[in-house]
Amino acid sequence: MQARARWASEASLSRGRRRPEPPAPTRDDFQRDRDRIIHSSAFRRLVYKTQVFINHEGDLFRTRLTHSLEVAQLGRSIARSLRLNEDLVETIALAHDLGHTPFGHAGQDALDECMAPWGGFEHNLQSLRVVDRLEQRYPDWDGLNLCFETREGILKRCALPLAQVMERQEPGGVARRFIDGTQPSLEAQLTNLADEIAYNAHDLDDGVRSGLITLEQAREVPLVDRHCREALAAHPGLAEMPPRRCLAETIRRMLSAQVYDVIAASQKALDEVRPADAWAARQCRGLIGFSEAMRHDSAALKRFLFAALYRHPQVNDSTARARRIVTELFSAYLADPAALPAEFRHSRVPARGVSDYIAGMTDRYAKREHQRLTGQQLFGEVA
Ligand code: MG
Repeated sequence: MQARARWASEASLSRGRRRPEPPAPTRDDFQRDRDRIIHSSAFRRLVYKTQVFINHEGDLFRTRLTHSLEVAQLGRSIARSLRLNEDLVETIALAHDLGHTPFGHAGQDALDECMAPWGGFEHNLQSLRVVDRLEQRYPDWDGLNLCFETREGILKRCALPLAQVMERQEPGGVARRFIDGTQPSLEAQLTNLADEIAYNAHDLDDGVRSGLITLEQAREVPLVDRHCREALAAHPGLAEMPPRRCLAETIRRMLSAQVYDVIAASQKALDEVRPADAWAARQCRGLIGFSEAMRHDSAALKRFLFAALYRHPQVNDSTARARRIVTELFSAYLADPAALPAEFRHSRVPARGVSDYIAGMTDRYAKREHQRLTGQQLFGEVA
């Protein structure tokens, strides 16, 4: 194995856990964090949480779990080429969506509105809350007691006023960079980009498979059109085959092109700046990214998906029902906290306990609970 670059994160130089623990005999601390995430209950629930399509709409569509695995795969592969810490990238990738509500962004927006009087709801913060507090697996503490570098990568975004509150609770902690305007580790920057590459590609794939958009329509996006043309030129028989193969070949080529672009552009930036170590890299501008041309291409694909897929009338219809489920669940539990499991009866801010409980639900559990509490069935048969 090639040695890691001097600006890569090293578990042996970690800023550590909030509660010190003796080292594990066979794994370093980032590998141990990854294993804790895989064994958490929040991780298992990702399998029944929506990415774009509601979980019951089809078995072939991505869920939060398969999305997280794809982010880990892309992230590891880029990290290896850049000689960054693959294990830390994988760890952050597997944890990055743990705080997502049921029903994707519809669920998050509805819960954020419900929680507006109590500081709102934001899924990045919730992912951190899951690993810091909500998982209950250890005799001596709440949460998974993960390393600073893992938690830093999970907290992708944070508004300044909240960062100031968090900084008071954990001085010099994971919210500090939002006050200082510095970057997270290179591995965290990379995972963030791998997330974007993964969802742009798989939402296109799921969108076409669902029949809501077509590959022809998506060819208005230069990145898609270029790789579709290349695929057809390299395999003249492809046009006669079932369209799924052309879609898969186009997406494979698109993914490779983006991965190679990130590697080349980031390596160039790293070679120019040559940070002294992982800590110095945090003081630089963001060093992991696309080339200018690919950034432009990726933004165009995102705009297309937004207009043609995320705002498709059929998706909007599911979104409206999902929002109603979350909103009505929230009112029902807030009115009757006794209906909540004991560990979610939050003494100081009851609404936060309700929000934690709903955020942890899978799509199908939320549907079932909603039906039980309101007697209404908004999404057909509930398994
Ligand atoms: Mg994601």
